[in-house]
Amino acid sequence: MRQINWSNIIGHKNKISQIRDMIKSQQFPNAVVFAGADGIGKRRIAEVAAAALLCENDNAPCGHCSSCKVFAAGTHPDYYYLEPDKTKANPVIKVDQIRSMQSEVILMPVISNRRIVIIDDAECMNNVAQNCLLKTIEEPQGLSKFILITSNLSRLLLTIRSRSMTINFESLTAEEIERALTAQNIDNASKIAIIANGSLGQAFKLAENDGLQIREDVIKFLETLSSLNIENIFVKGQALAALPKDYFISWTINFQKILRDILILSADVNIENEYFYNRDIKARLNKIKTNLAEAEIFKMLHESAEVQRRLRSNANLELLIESFFIRLKNSKSNDELGIMNLE
Ligand SMILES: [Zn+2]
Repeated sequence: MRQINWSNIIGHKNKISQIRDMIKSQQFPNAVVFAGADGIGKRRIAEVAAAALLCENDNAPCGHCSSCKVFAAGTHPDYYYLEPDKTKANPVIKVDQIRSMQSEVILMPVISNRRIVIIDDAECMNNVAQNCLLKTIEEPQGLSKFILITSNLSRLLLTIRSRSMTINFESLTAEEIERALTAQNIDNASKIAIIANGSLGQAFKLAENDGLQIREDVIKFLETLSSLNIENIFVKGQALAALPKDYFISWTINFQKILRDILILSADVNIENEYFYNRDIKARLNKIKTNLAEAEIFKMLHESAEVQRRLRSNANLELLIESFFIRLKNSKSNDELGIMNLE
């Protein structure tokens, strides 16, 4: 059975104590929006808050009352969790999902003195769904409380935001991520923590997908860019296209972070280590920098943003990668390959 308690949550100390105070003093609003980047723990915090709001005892969630027990078993009758169908390319929370939730929360709670609804990825509600939800959260003496979780606050209607309290969660520090990875016995915890961009979710993904290896691949690519010929590019394109699309998406993200670090190094100002995504390999980045003009870096950043945009369509992955690499090569004006467009 899962442990639902505050002590298992990484980071966010101040926000958690604010939430606990509101629960304890019965001041937890009817609707709260948890906003912040993906993978930083918003859903886990919302879950523990829900368990605490349903718990019968002080120091909630106590873990041993009947409410806490059924919550941990995943069968609490007064807890409603709603999310989009994530198997779809464009996940949506449909108005029907909101309506069936509404038809349940108007009933009296079964074992607790209220009902708690979590709407995960709340930005996936279309406008119709959001307007439909609005009617419920406007209900002042309703017995239900709502926690909306989002990584894209701007996609929630102003009317929803104005009737909710927004709590903004910051990204995690590299130290917090490292501690969490080490607790799970994950290799290379300190390096992964540095490139995970403040997201524990991303850190676990990196650990699973050999994220350090992706970064190494990107660096090797930049180190050898000048000597790459068209044949090398086709071989590399084929190899990358044979892997899941996510791998290449991570590749482009790593590529951008590395270029961004190199740009900072080129600026030749004294910037503290903590502002570098890849501070553990600064010496190698410095070496790459000597072969790249600032204008070339900007061209490459533009190309990688463009390829990320195209990745969202159903374009042929291999052609996409190959033409991307050719454009990168051509961004370096001296090594023009003379093939501008493969697609
Ligand atoms: Zn309890």
